[in-house]
Amino acid sequence: MIIVGLNSRAKKVKSGSFDCPHCGKTRLYDHKRSKLYFSFFFIPLIPLKDQGEFIECQHCFRQYAVEILQRKPLTAVERHAFPIKIDLQSGTPIEMARQKLLNQGFASEFVEEVIEKAAGSSRRSCPRCSRTYVKTIEKCAECGHLLD
Ligand SMILES: [Zn+2]
Ligand SMILES: [Zn+2]
Repeated sequence: MIIVGLNSRAKKVKSGSFDCPHCGKTRLYDHKRSKLYFSFFFIPLIPLKDQGEFIECQHCFRQYAVEILQRKPLTAVERHAFPIKIDLQSGTPIEMARQKLLNQGFASEFVEEVIEKAAGSSRRSCPRCSRTYVKTIEKCAECGHLLD
């Protein structure tokens, strides 16, 4: 049994209403900030670092990047990039996110645009298995190696 470990926990900072792309309606949201904690028996004790912020629909509980609150209508690229940005920030390799989109039948040029938007240009890669991640990730989810 793991007694000490690292856990992340999301705290609500704000709430309001927004147009949820998944629900297709105006819904209530919670604006949350997640932090990595050093924990003991699963009780978070010491806050270590911020892991980013997100918007969570209180109806479907899907999570989006905070930019979704900008009132202008989203482009198709942005609509797909927001949920992927959240996946990437929580440690999903960029290759996996790209494959997921390709599996959904999107054209590869469109997929590259979405990935570019979601991941940005500064990325880190795993020296062992060469998976790439967004810059806030420290450890490879595939093999556990520390990223370059
Ligand atoms: Zn929703
Ligand atoms: Zn790796």
